[in-house]
Amino acid sequence: MHSKQRLIEQRLKRVLTERIRPAVYGRTVPLRVGVWNAPGEPVPVAEGLAAPYRPVSVGHRWGPAWSTSWFEITGKVPEEWAGQRVEAVLDLGFNVTGAGFSSEGLVYRADGNVVKAINPRNAWLPIAGPAAGGEEFTYYIEAAANPALCDSHTPTTLGSKPSWTTGSGQSGETLYQLLRLDLAVFDTQVWELAQDLDVLGELMHQLSEAEPRRWQLLQTIERALDAVDLQDVSGSAAAAREVLRPSLLTPAAPSAHRISAVGHAHIDTAWLWPLRETVRKVARTVSNVTQLMDEHPEFRFAMSQAQQLAWLKDKRPEVYARVQEKAKSGQFLPVGSLWVEPDTNITGGEALARQLIHGKRFYLDEFGTETQEMWLPDTFGYNAAMPQLMKLAGVRWFLTQKISWNTTNKFPHHTFRWEGIDGTRIFSHFPPVDTYNAEITGAELAHAVANFQDKGAANSSLLPFGYGDGGGGPTREMLARAARLADLEGSPRVVIEPPADFFTRAEAEYPEAPVWAGELYLEFHRGTLTSQLRTKQGNRRSEHLLREAELWSATATVRAGFSYPYEALDRLWKTVLLHQFHDILPGSSIAWVHREAEQTYAEVLDELHGIVYTAQRALAGGGEKTVVFNASPYDRSGIPAFGAAIRPALADPAVAPVACGDGFVLDNGLVRIEIDARGLVTSAIDLAAGREAIAPGAAANLLQLHQDFPNEYDAWDIDEFYRNTVHDLTEAETVTAAPGGVRIVRLFGDSRIEQLLSLRVGSRRLDIDTEIDWHEKEKLLKAAFPLDLRADHSSAEIPFGHVKRPTHTNTSWDAAKFEICAHRYLHVGENDWGAALVNDSTYGHEVTRDVRPDGGTTTTVRLTLLRAPRFPDPDADQGHHRLRCGLVIGADIADAVREGYHLNLPDQAIPGSVAVKPLVGADDDAVVIEAVKLADDRSGDVVVRLYEAHGGRAQATLTTGFPLETAVATDLLERPLAGPDHTPAVWAGDRRVELTLRPFQILTLRLRVAADE
Ligand SMILES: [Zn+2]
Repeated sequence: MHSKQRLIEQRLKRVLTERIRPAVYGRTVPLRVGVWNAPGEPVPVAEGLAAPYRPVSVGHRWGPAWSTSWFEITGKVPEEWAGQRVEAVLDLGFNVTGAGFSSEGLVYRADGNVVKAINPRNAWLPIAGPAAGGEEFTYYIEAAANPALCDSHTPTTLGSKPSWTTGSGQSGETLYQLLRLDLAVFDTQVWELAQDLDVLGELMHQLSEAEPRRWQLLQTIERALDAVDLQDVSGSAAAAREVLRPSLLTPAAPSAHRISAVGHAHIDTAWLWPLRETVRKVARTVSNVTQLMDEHPEFRFAMSQAQQLAWLKDKRPEVYARVQEKAKSGQFLPVGSLWVEPDTNITGGEALARQLIHGKRFYLDEFGTETQEMWLPDTFGYNAAMPQLMKLAGVRWFLTQKISWNTTNKFPHHTFRWEGIDGTRIFSHFPPVDTYNAEITGAELAHAVANFQDKGAANSSLLPFGYGDGGGGPTREMLARAARLADLEGSPRVVIEPPADFFTRAEAEYPEAPVWAGELYLEFHRGTLTSQLRTKQGNRRSEHLLREAELWSATATVRAGFSYPYEALDRLWKTVLLHQFHDILPGSSIAWVHREAEQTYAEVLDELHGIVYTAQRALAGGGEKTVVFNASPYDRSGIPAFGAAIRPALADPAVAPVACGDGFVLDNGLVRIEIDARGLVTSAIDLAAGREAIAPGAAANLLQLHQDFPNEYDAWDIDEFYRNTVHDLTEAETVTAAPGGVRIVRLFGDSRIEQLLSLRVGSRRLDIDTEIDWHEKEKLLKAAFPLDLRADHSSAEIPFGHVKRPTHTNTSWDAAKFEICAHRYLHVGENDWGAALVNDSTYGHEVTRDVRPDGGTTTTVRLTLLRAPRFPDPDADQGHHRLRCGLVIGADIADAVREGYHLNLPDQAIPGSVAVKPLVGADDDAVVIEAVKLADDRSGDVVVRLYEAHGGRAQATLTTGFPLETAVATDLLERPLAGPDHTPAVWAGDRRVELTLRPFQILTLRLRVAADE
């Protein structure tokens, strides 16, 4: 047979695009439009509705970047359209294709009720039936002139907050132009025909040319096109659909893959838009989704990030009421179990626990839903403590797709059990469609089926569909595709259903799913461990001060009748959790977001300092002695952990530098440090062990500058070729003895660095306090510590433990980890001797090793201090910074853990007269108390969260500084654990709790304070 394949395929494309789709709106009349430009930041809805509108017409230009214009549209449905479905078609100047990446609008009735949102992929508005009687109707559009910032990755100033938004009136270049404002009859038959042809055409293209079905579809499509009268598409659509009907009714193969389609809209809580715009994005998306639910009872939509729903509740209650209505009917599904979708590389352990606590509690309180999945489709890597944290929060399943972005290795499973550092396993799924923004196209479905790694053993996958990142959500076209693909020959079966239904079935189908142990390292976006240092420091300080605020407030409440600041702590925690969102904390947002975050962190830290100070004053009593508080989990200089002592504030002064040759020596009897005339550390001797830490011929605290211009995503990526060029900053302006140590000043490029190297009495930690005035562009600054030891792995702190990574590059998986994350410490060592780098600011680390001619091995640890990417924030990281780090000489893991806490939780001295006995304490260094607080239910119970930190088994006694009535092990939400699987070995006696912990086990205890003895 002669082939007409290409001819028919091209015909389908042209007729569908140029004739059938335009015929959906066959009859139209123009709407009248008026405009009011809000002078500054977005105004309350009532103000927009009452504004003075002036008439404009199609072609009107509007919208300087980040401005809001309100449009009033007025019209009348022609009498002859009575009984037809009438819609408004509104194009605000949708000049880019992404749903949530340019101008968007939310449409209101005159009474302030929301109708629906419009965006480039969803530009219609339903017009209520009674209007067909000839009455005039009026709607209002709150239109946001959000600039399209993702079209190219070139530096732009459009990401800054414009100065006029303070209220001086809109100014600047207008970005948008009204293109269409029409009232139209929606031709249902034509629209349905377009969906039929769309689905069958896409299926045809995905089928192999060896399959008869492909050729049958080709013939059927040709006959259907023959049936379309191009002069009367509306009149002939039904006949064309009749031709297609049999092809839509042939069922899928019994072995067909089963796809659980879940409506979704990934809304980045801030990114290429500020937080305030996300509030409106959420309102727009949710309005669209609930409107769609009215017309499609089969539609299910999963929404993650409790914070976004909390915003709706607070700021758009009428939209939130719709959410609650649709949640009751089972269509709107709160998922994810988290406050936001946080970064999980950088976020601290206790903060991740709070993400789960506040996320789950919001869903429980607001919807009565105990969420069971962790939904993190877009986060840039997942630490190996997550499985245990999930389990302790009652989470059974984990979903992401981000690891499909790996640039080196393809992950071997789509469905598997993820095993954390403590041995907890969580059933996990990566949707093989490799996106969280699916549109249910034929190409996506074919990719999901072909890509699914677990074929044979399992046959189900999940597909999140709906426009995302900037929001938008599912459309009626996507639902039309899903309906046609439910049981269609040649296609996987597509079923719209809740994630929980998918996970329940997938787990039953694949009980012995393979196991992946350890972290889920994303081989991409490694620069996010470093970009926007001030944001990261704000988070680090906030996490530690929140710990202190809870600890001292709890202690003062139990001891001194202090009033525990429940509301303030709840609010401050939620603010910090919000900023852990996966484009804020990683440093990948626009300038507006990061400048605002810096301001917010300053306010949070101020308030936390106030809470800490007030609580400490309540404990320290009056008087003019000095009371020194120790919030770290380890005794320090005679001050008990979690307690305070009366003593001189400077108990352990720094040793004075002694001139030696061209340089200086710092020697405290434990370690001896040599600093040369260049300000480099050429020797660091552990005097007890008689061992030199610095590799022969090398020098530590060597600052190194690299060109840093990645191929694709500036703020996100460090591409490995950055290593090819390096400039060592060995020239010093001055190297001088100073009070407390050796001061070094370096100038380079447009920047200046000043460092103070110091050593305290009784410490094996060389402290390096660095102040940088940083004015480089597209540069990377590292601090190198070449150590004379042969470490075959590094141990890097992660939430509630540490992870070991090889220092060699045997496999492509090892080689891809050329930039790794560590929290407060990174340890390298041999069997009986090692060293640790501790820090108070940095996350990006690097460990390499080289064998020298003398046969010894140099293990080099480098801390990544600063970057200067130019997209999306052209001024990222510019200006003044202060970072502290320390080299602990002769350190095992226990030393690394302790010094990491000490550096981040310095002593605090206030005037007073009373020493403070700790509220709780543990007698084993391996058992670290991470949080001491009062129970969230305000019962007055003391809640203690602790964990085994060294990677071994621990038996410890927890003692309480108060009479103890009961001790109960709980989940993260402070609910008693049940079942043999969950009951840890806890025995409570008089002010004592005996504990047995497995490696890295996390335990939450609720301690009831007994009445006075
Ligand atoms: Zn995202």
